[in-house]
Amino acid sequence: MPQQPAKTAATPQASCPLSFGYDSQQQAIVEDLLRLVTYICRTPVVLLRLRDRLWFQFPQTPDPLVEIAKTLVETTPTDRPIVWSQETSIPDNSLQFYVRIPAIDASGQIFGEIVACDRTPHAWTLEQTEALQTLARQATRQLQPEPHLVNAALLHPHPIVICDATGMAIALNPAAETLTQQLNTEIPNLFPRFHPQLIKACLTTRQRRERIEVSLNQRTFRWLYQPCKAADFVYLYGFEITDYKQSEAKLLHEALHDELTGLPNRSLFMDRLRQAVERIQRHRRSNTPDQFALLFLDLDRFKLINDSLGHLVGDQLLQMIGRRLESAVREGDTVARLGGDEFAILIDNLQHQDEAIALAERLHKLFRSPFHLYASPLDAHTETDSRTFHEVFTTVSIGITLSAANYCRPENLLRDADIALYRAKSLGRGRHEIFDTTMHASTIALLQLENDLRRAVKSHQFQVYYQPIVALDTGRIAGFEALVRWNHPERGLISPSDFIPVAEETGLIVPLGSWILQEACTQLQQWQAEFVTYPPLTMSVNISSRQISHPDFSQKVKQILQNVQLEPGSLKLEITESVLMDNADAAADLLEELRAQSIHLCIDDFGTGYSSLSYLQRFPINMLKVDKSFMNNLGVDEENSEIVRAIISLGTNLGMYVTAEGVETEEQLVQLWALHCDYGQGYLFSPALDRQGATALLTESPQW
Ligand code: C2E
Ligand code: CA
Ligand code: CA
Repeated sequence: MPQQPAKTAATPQASCPLSFGYDSQQQAIVEDLLRLVTYICRTPVVLLRLRDRLWFQFPQTPDPLVEIAKTLVETTPTDRPIVWSQETSIPDNSLQFYVRIPAIDASGQIFGEIVACDRTPHAWTLEQTEALQTLARQATRQLQPEPHLVNAALLHPHPIVICDATGMAIALNPAAETLTQQLNTEIPNLFPRFHPQLIKACLTTRQRRERIEVSLNQRTFRWLYQPCKAADFVYLYGFEITDYKQSEAKLLHEALHDELTGLPNRSLFMDRLRQAVERIQRHRRSNTPDQFALLFLDLDRFKLINDSLGHLVGDQLLQMIGRRLESAVREGDTVARLGGDEFAILIDNLQHQDEAIALAERLHKLFRSPFHLYASPLDAHTETDSRTFHEVFTTVSIGITLSAANYCRPENLLRDADIALYRAKSLGRGRHEIFDTTMHASTIALLQLENDLRRAVKSHQFQVYYQPIVALDTGRIAGFEALVRWNHPERGLISPSDFIPVAEETGLIVPLGSWILQEACTQLQQWQAEFVTYPPLTMSVNISSRQISHPDFSQKVKQILQNVQLEPGSLKLEITESVLMDNADAAADLLEELRAQSIHLCIDDFGTGYSSLSYLQRFPINMLKVDKSFMNNLGVDEENSEIVRAIISLGTNLGMYVTAEGVETEEQLVQLWALHCDYGQGYLFSPALDRQGATALLTESPQW
């Protein structure tokens, strides 16, 4: 019985995947065979059809006759040779002649068919038919699939599909079949949408197409389209890449998100910002109104929380803040963690810039309620009453930039938001500021200063100057105040008022302050040894807020005193009222520790800062230093004289010494004598001097 050619290839028989057995050698045989057929038949095109609907053609140039011949063969199968020729020539392009020779294999099955055709009638001989039959027998023998190649395809763990020139699947291996069952689908659904075009491109260029991805039911495959060398069919090799895709997606997510909070990270944020900038530029060109705003946020006391409660608690806080921020914005806005305690928000599609300010205000309000942070992360997940938590308040400072200015680069937006943030911070905490261009210049100068300062700490550009403090009863030098000077290589001497705040802000004051303390104590020790006729000289050193809150501070002071072998009673630390009050809790313990070492404590700039005096009893203070602003018109201006009088009597009553600073005139000195002030310091006696200058002054031993 002749075998019916398969009309569809929905489920080609895996048990007889003839075409999987071909190798390139057999394809070469097919080509030779077809070439011989053309010699015998003298037709412009000859074809070989194999039983799984694979067509081989020679020559391979496209010819409309081929389609006509194929249709004929597919629709009217035959098991015997057929020769047909139009008697007379009709000058058109239709089929006028064909020969069909079936190839029968050993078991009597039709193995394939040789077809030759032409658009003109042919004379035909029996010898020609016999020659073709011989060739068909040859083909049957030589083109039996190689069992090992068949097996390779059958056992191949990945799907392999053969498609004909129309893209129809004409053979699949078991792996491909299993896949269709698993996915409960038909094989064509496994192909990409542009499958027919790919097949066509593959066959016309004879080049493979790689990495064609298809996703179906949450699984992803990659196909390789490999054209068959000698015939019009394409092998499709499939690889499942679902796992790879998932890990790729996971990696991508990780690369773009902050691990701790799950929020977008800096890269993703910058990307969204870039898109927003580009969109605005497009819209500006088309005159479509569009705006966005960038909010740069920084927590005000995060370091303190992290240092005092530990990193685990700090992490919890960051996570909670992430959630709070997200709750405050609309869908479509981006909340990101840029690193540390820095967050950023991109609000898109802004109608008016007031919306950005409104959001900033909403955020400040959100931060008014406390965060409950569990001492142990486990507590956060249990429901018992025994869990302990810290109630923590924090505020946030916010810098805002608006897209209204002509920004081209997202980095510049972020930079300017950072500048506005810096301004917000320096104006006090829990505030927001909108960037304006004047901020830029001052920030650049500040940044420059900060950079220079970092370098200066390393390259020892600092020098300590000493200003004498005079005991007003004897009129002789009782000690010095150490005042730092910065010898800037280009800008010359820079006043501490200009760089100490930056050093504080950046934390550079901690190493710098230690160095000053060490330098001043060493110097004092030398002077004490050299100038024995003086009552033991003292050294006053200014201490800043960052130093006080540093946990090692008291230890550091102790160590320095030991190293230089200085009596602790000779050292006076000057702290301003505001520094003291800002760090009240930490300061109380610290000052007690210092006092226990017999170090003297002095309130600097007294009278300018804090209004309540109750703290004077709370802290162990030895000395008040009347601020120099009260020296103006001392003795002339009644009010200032009254204040100085009040401070001196307050100090005396609390058992503290009083020093007047900024003493510039004889009149002031006379008044201070009259008020029984203990010490005086100021240009009247001497400005701050370098080491040699101060040593010379001590040698001179002046008396006022
Ligand atoms: P301060 O602690 O109040 O220091 C006194 C300032 O008044 C010094 O300015 C001193 O030179 C100046 N001064 C002295 N006598 C007179 C006078 O008769 N009239 C007037 N008008 N001023 C006088 P300087 O050295 O520029 O220091 C400014 C501030 O910088 C200091 O104020 C202090 O707050 C800070 N500072 C200076 N050195 C250090 C330091 O080593 N560490 C820290 N943390 N701060 C320092
Ligand atoms: Ca001082
Ligand atoms: Ca002062």
